[in-house]
Amino acid sequence: MLHGGAGALDNLGNDKEAVRYLEGMRSVLEHGRRILQLGGSALETVEQCASLLEDDPVFNAGAGSVLNEDGKVEMDAAIMCGATLNAGAVAGITNIANPIQLARVVLAESEHVMLIGAGAQRFADHWKFEFMPDHYFLTPDRVAQWEQAHLRRRMGLDHDDVGTLERMNEEKYGTIGAVARDRIGNLAAATSTGGIVNKGFGRVGDSPIVGAGVYADNASCAVSCTGFGEDFMRTALAKTLADLIEFKSLDGPTAAREGIDYLQRKVNGRGGFILIDKQGRCACAFSTKRMIRGWIEQGGETQCWL
Ligand code: ASP
Repeated sequence: MLHGGAGALDNLGNDKEAVRYLEGMRSVLEHGRRILQLGGSALETVEQCASLLEDDPVFNAGAGSVLNEDGKVEMDAAIMCGATLNAGAVAGITNIANPIQLARVVLAESEHVMLIGAGAQRFADHWKFEFMPDHYFLTPDRVAQWEQAHLRRRMGLDHDDVGTLERMNEEKYGTIGAVARDRIGNLAAATSTGGIVNKGFGRVGDSPIVGAGVYADNASCAVSCTGFGEDFMRTALAKTLADLIEFKSLDGPTAAREGIDYLQRKVNGRGGFILIDKQGRCACAFSTKRMIRGWIEQGGETQCWL
């Protein structure tokens, strides 16, 4: 299962743009299917799928990330293995093409779960990550979006039309996410983002926070969230969804409905999530008008929506 951000998507100028999102998602889903069919692990699959989405500049992660208040790209990412509960996360990082790959090395090679800023950059250097120039991350659309937001001194979310405050609250939050269940029943989740448009320097959202924007446990489910990060942090939404499954014995689709109600009831939260439960049932929910998402359930058809 993949997502490419939640929101109103009113800024989609035409059908061609919509097709561009859906085609990007469909080809990455097919790639994930091939890895799993060849016996690849859920962890490997979510890392590879998230990397491909990071490379696609239409999504708000890796190349195409949104800009912070200083006009700079600062990215967050996390990956989690449901079999071991091992997790790796990076926050506030710059110039790394695939933050999810750095998060995976944190998971595999570091004693820690999360590295931030300069320490994460030093870790990346140690593990021989290539540092990309700033222009690799900047797309003309993102620069224009930031200029509008900056002029209005407003903080917004990916693909927002920052025209009016009402629209601001309604529109699209970016981010990419992947969750998978492999042939032996292991679950994994990955989330990666440039965050929200014109965010404060040093602001970290939910995406790299285990239990907020990402979670995986073979005893319940794998989850990746997108939306206004502060809402997901305050409700620990990814772990709340896992708890609904583990402790209330709900299935994935029922937990998804309860989880989105909880997000809205508690903090009037804006965003959504994708989830695969331990039986391999796919579910998603969102409180925004739309969410870009797709899945292949139990080896069936590839399906994508926005
Ligand atoms: N959740 C991300 C953040 O708050 C943004 C998003 O999903 O688009 O950083």
